[in-house]
Amino acid sequence: MDFGFTPRQEALKQEVRQFIAENVSPEVLAEAAKGWEEGRGPRTRELLKKIADRGWVGISWPKEYGGQGGSRIDQYLVEEEFARVGIGVGGAGSGAPAILAAGTEEQKQYFLPRIIRGEIVFGLGFTEPQAGADLASLQCRAVRDGDEYVVNGQKMFTSSAHFATHLYLMARTDPEAPKHKGISIFLIPMDTPGITVRPLWTIQSNPTAPLGTTYGQARTNEVFLEDVHVPASCILGEENMGWYVGAMGLNLDRVGASRYLLSVSRDEDIINWVKENDFQGFTPAQDPAVRDRLAELWIEAQVCRLMTLRSMSLVEHGGKFTYEGSAEKVFSPEHGVRTTETITQVLGPYAQLMNGSPEAIEDGIFAHNVLGAFQSGINHGSVQVMRDQVARRGLGMPRS
Ligand SMILES: Cc1cc2nc3c(=O)[nH]c(=O)nc-3n(C[C@H](O)[C@H](O)[C@H](O)COP(=O)(O)OP(=O)(O)OC[C@H]3O[C@@H](n4cnc5c(N)ncnc54)[C@H](O)[C@@H]3O)c2cc1C
Repeated sequence: MDFGFTPRQEALKQEVRQFIAENVSPEVLAEAAKGWEEGRGPRTRELLKKIADRGWVGISWPKEYGGQGGSRIDQYLVEEEFARVGIGVGGAGSGAPAILAAGTEEQKQYFLPRIIRGEIVFGLGFTEPQAGADLASLQCRAVRDGDEYVVNGQKMFTSSAHFATHLYLMARTDPEAPKHKGISIFLIPMDTPGITVRPLWTIQSNPTAPLGTTYGQARTNEVFLEDVHVPASCILGEENMGWYVGAMGLNLDRVGASRYLLSVSRDEDIINWVKENDFQGFTPAQDPAVRDRLAELWIEAQVCRLMTLRSMSLVEHGGKFTYEGSAEKVFSPEHGVRTTETITQVLGPYAQLMNGSPEAIEDGIFAHNVLGAFQSGINHGSVQVMRDQVARRGLGMPRS
């Protein structure tokens, strides 16, 4: 078995690295790091446009929708190179795969090229105050009224809603049906009257980004929908089939370069720091226990990467993709948590000092990594729920 890339793929990696060296300046990175709080700035938009012009966004999407009709592995390689420097070029989360699979021709023509050009960004409107792990209990209602739906409800943790152009919304369209069956997905412009976005701050507070890109996000949102009238053409897929459309998109979105790098970069941050720093009269890089633990974490990091590549390869070859994304969504965030536990063992109480504290190491990056690692075990499907999916879909066990 050959785990290597083809010469053409190696050349693509080099081409991307060269582009990054020439175009991703510290100023662009500083602006992009604020993107989560403030939305994309002009430098970031210009960079994303250049990346799109090179044909590097949605490489595997069909040509008629602006993609290259190319390989999913190529797309992964490009995403990985950019994710390493903190630039996300993944497309639009779950939205794009779901539109490709279930969208009408008109929706594909409208959304996909605009996603590629960075003009459309989705906020994922699934979770509600009473429907998180048990998402199928969601209460947000969409009622058909002639050529429209009228939507009412509340969403929680809608992470990019404050800069998104569209809401990728899950709502109940048939309250009488069994709970998984009366749900539909809608693609709703954020500027539709009746939508209100309020910030919801997480335990990450408001970190600066001194070292890498490994923070979790500080801001997410609550979204309120009050008598939001949308054309019936906003529905994605068939009415009441939204559970299946949404689950497929989410499963695909759980795998990919940026997601695995989120965990692995925390690992690399601590390894790089330990290699270059003494601490309180102690040289951690020469301590056998620290070396042993960091080597073990690095091995786990390679497993994260291989799991991601296996999923990519399955998608590439049209294979059945059922539990693999869930398995990764367990292993990778938990690797992140193990990494941050190691950080707290190596740095002791200093690992808890956040940015702003005079004694904070690297302006608190490791403290934020500890908090961010715990978040990644919850967002996009918690590890407990993912384990249950592996048990059912991977091991064929009965529903619990
Ligand atoms: C930073 C962040 C960003 C997020 N971004 C988004 C977003 O953009 N869009 C969106 O829609 N959602 C988003 N979420 C929401 C996320 O998907 C939910 O938080 C998650 O599904 C868990 O739901 P909950 O918070 O309501 O917890 P609960 O459902 O109340 O669960 C609490 C705990 O109990 C466990 N648990 C619950 N049921 C079971 C069970 N049957 N078996 C075993 N354990 C169980 C869970 O695993 C969890 O650990 C985000 C969350 C976070 C933290």
